[in-house]
Amino acid sequence: MQKVTLGNTSLLVSQLCFGALPMGPLQRDMPPKQGAQVIRHALDRGVNFIDTAQVYRTYEHIRLAKEGCPQEIIIATKSYAETYNEMQAAVEEALTELDVDTLGIVHLHAARMGPELFEKRSGALRCLVDCKKRGIIQAVGISTHTVAAVRAAARRDDIDVIFPLINVRGQGIRGGSREEMAEAIFEAHNQGKGLYAMKVYAGGNLLQDRRGALDYVLGLPGMNVVAIGMVDEKEVDMNLHLLKGENVDAKSPHYVPITSKKLIVSRFCKGCGSCVEACPNQALALSNGKARVDEELCILCGYCNPVCPEFAIRMV
Ligand code: SF4
Ligand code: SF4
Repeated sequence: MQKVTLGNTSLLVSQLCFGALPMGPLQRDMPPKQGAQVIRHALDRGVNFIDTAQVYRTYEHIRLAKEGCPQEIIIATKSYAETYNEMQAAVEEALTELDVDTLGIVHLHAARMGPELFEKRSGALRCLVDCKKRGIIQAVGISTHTVAAVRAAARRDDIDVIFPLINVRGQGIRGGSREEMAEAIFEAHNQGKGLYAMKVYAGGNLLQDRRGALDYVLGLPGMNVVAIGMVDEKEVDMNLHLLKGENVDAKSPHYVPITSKKLIVSRFCKGCGSCVEACPNQALALSNGKARVDEELCILCGYCNPVCPEFAIRMV
């Protein structure tokens, strides 16, 4: 597995970052032991980089996966903490639950916020800078869907790593186009920031052309690492083969078919109604401010998924 140094940090990470979100209770809700086996499968094949977050609740999956693992593992986590004390508690929680002495990266979990986040969450950021000085964390980061936040982070000395949302469809990018996000990423790279990409398959919408989705992101100047959420050993193998440049089509032994069985609306639904309008089968309706699916009417066509600005709709 090819390794890449993240910007001006000393973090040498695998090109494939294991995204731990989908196995947690927000999505698949796999038992920690079962999730750990999938992560360990990746670790045993050269992946040394895992991305998680305080809200994903997958620390136990990761802790079990790394037990007895001989290689150094770089864990990135993130927190919505705003104040110094909240962030300190989040870092301590991660250290304890992951059973580690240091964390690779801790991000301000920013997602939809713009550059104002640096003012609103200055206490949390100050805590991360202090943790880095004390050697508890190796790098300070920001995870974001917003072009302006990437641009602002690129110019700050206290940010080492940026985890931006980017994909070939531009789905989910806030405050700009796909091209504008790509420019912001390049600007950050030129400023010495480490970068790895989020939502390269656009929450599952680009799985029909995995090769094209990966080639687009890894072809962007300054972007060499992708975080991909995985819940199955076969998915790990397929992504590893794709990252080796192989064409994993339906004839390949490493091909994992897209098994869309059920539509799930997560708690991140904001009740905007866009999916309801997009559904050609009247299978979605708003109830108590959330979208609800009528499984009898849903034909799993997927028309609703791309219109959700919150990535709240998933097929599992
Ligand atoms: S588009 Fe997304 S956020 Fe809007 S109602 Fe549907 S599921 Fe909720
Ligand atoms: S998958 Fe298709 S049928 Fe099902 S809720 Fe979405 S748009 Fe409607």
